[in-house]
Amino acid sequence: MKDVILVVEDENNIRSNMIAFLEAEGFEAMPAKDGAEALELFSDKSPDLIILDLMLPKIDGLEVCKQVRRDSDVPIIMVTARDEEIDKLLGLELGADDYITKPFSLRELKARIKAVLRRTKSGVAKSDEEEILTFGCLSVNLDRREVKKEGEVVELTPSEYAILTTLCQNVGRPYSRLQLLNATLGESYAGYERAIDTHVSNLRKKIESNPQKPVYILTVYGLGYKFGDQYEVNQ
Ligand code: CA
Repeated sequence: MKDVILVVEDENNIRSNMIAFLEAEGFEAMPAKDGAEALELFSDKSPDLIILDLMLPKIDGLEVCKQVRRDSDVPIIMVTARDEEIDKLLGLELGADDYITKPFSLRELKARIKAVLRRTKSGVAKSDEEEILTFGCLSVNLDRREVKKEGEVVELTPSEYAILTTLCQNVGRPYSRLQLLNATLGESYAGYERAIDTHVSNLRKKIESNPQKPVYILTVYGLGYKFGDQYEVNQ
């Protein structure tokens, strides 16, 4: 069955481009041009995922997010403009699963959708087709939990694997140490963020050609880490 995606966007061109693209990619896409219409469609059609623009007429994206979260865990990807950093963070606190910043490519949108659906559907039976992400000479098989460098299997600890997959499923997006710690242990261990540095250091020794000059796991000074955005998801 097709995943149903509700696309909430008030700019006609962007909305119709997204709808056409998502339908071509095999999703069922429903358009909503403002927050009120979004909430109506949400309760009528129970979509599998919502792409939610922040700045909307009638009811804005944050309010839509808040109202949806009152009775649903449906994945939400917030769409923001570049200068809305604070709103972006607020959106995450209100329970959005991810955000994407305008302007974005439809390919990037698709990668985010797939990552969010994969995270929220884990445990659900998967198709026979294996999901393999390829970045240069590094490949990550998400179904087998297998990482290869230049075709050779790299043995990673569960923490290293969790850090790598968190970063590489959102190429270019910076993560704080605390966020990576949450991804690794599943809950917050405040004060232990620096433990992430040890895992990252070990991970670099295993997957980077030159751990002193990493190309995959990059440091974001004052924050944490991100996956090198010169590597595109090859699918
Ligand atoms: Ca807008």
